[in-house]
Amino acid sequence: MVTGRFAPTPSGRLHLGNLLCCLLAWCSARKQGGRFLLRIEDVDEPRCPARLADQCIEDLRFLGFDWDGPVLYQHDRKERYQEILEQLREKGLTYPCFCTRADLHTEQAPNLGDTQYIYPGTCARLTEAEIRAKSRTRTSAIRVRVPDLEITFSDRLQGLRRENLARDCGDFVLRRSDGYFSYQLAVVADDIDSGVTEVVRGRDILSATPRQIFLYRTLGAQPPQWIHIPLLLDPQGRRLAKRDKDLDLDALSRRFSPEEILGLLACACRLQERPTATTLLSLLREFDWDRIPRESIRLPKL
Ligand code: GLU
Repeated sequence: MVTGRFAPTPSGRLHLGNLLCCLLAWCSARKQGGRFLLRIEDVDEPRCPARLADQCIEDLRFLGFDWDGPVLYQHDRKERYQEILEQLREKGLTYPCFCTRADLHTEQAPNLGDTQYIYPGTCARLTEAEIRAKSRTRTSAIRVRVPDLEITFSDRLQGLRRENLARDCGDFVLRRSDGYFSYQLAVVADDIDSGVTEVVRGRDILSATPRQIFLYRTLGAQPPQWIHIPLLLDPQGRRLAKRDKDLDLDALSRRFSPEEILGLLACACRLQERPTATTLLSLLREFDWDRIPRESIRLPKL
């Protein structure tokens, strides 16, 4: 059976881009008669207060979404993440990394984003004695060693993709030096444990997918079907972000009904020609991945 999910990070109020993702993930799973799960990705606890997680759930209910079973919270899953980290450590795949953010940035062009950043392996070759000495003054992050191997996968919307992890990414972080687990570890652990077979999410995360596939394989699990949806841009052509308050649900719910918001989303992703009010049930009838654009979508002025 198909199992889809929506996995928002509650570091701000949901915006139209997040809602488009939920809409398409929900339609895809429900259209196939599948299960649909909701997971709150609050692994980075300091950035994700409980009040924003509650708000996120309330916003999804306001729009009429439903999901199966209880909401899963990443903050409840630390023991499980630790277990997985241990499994990888036992395979000899992990090592402590003492590099600070400043160290990493002086080695590379400082304006490279996290996804383009390639870890040069500075701490991969430390001896036991060096590790002990460094541990006295600093806490370490934990990285996983990646193989010099091409990862190839097929995305339902973005087509065939390939990346060599060693060349294009480098060893990546599983647990941060402040003790919080990384998104990469948490998302894979959760999707495996929840039996997720279909991952629908923003195209901005496409570049993290090869790292996640590597974790699936290393843990002996079958990766899901990947579907990376286009990003929504504001009327000026900039990517929507949580700081864009005028397109978040706080502002939108003051101006529009849930049906009108669904209409805006449906028109943006071409499930309907005009932004007229609609319901989840009628969108479910219209839904077809072949109608959804692959490129970023610029929103009109609302
Ligand atoms: N939590 C991520 C976000 O809100 C989504 C992660 C995923 O769907 O894999 O952007």
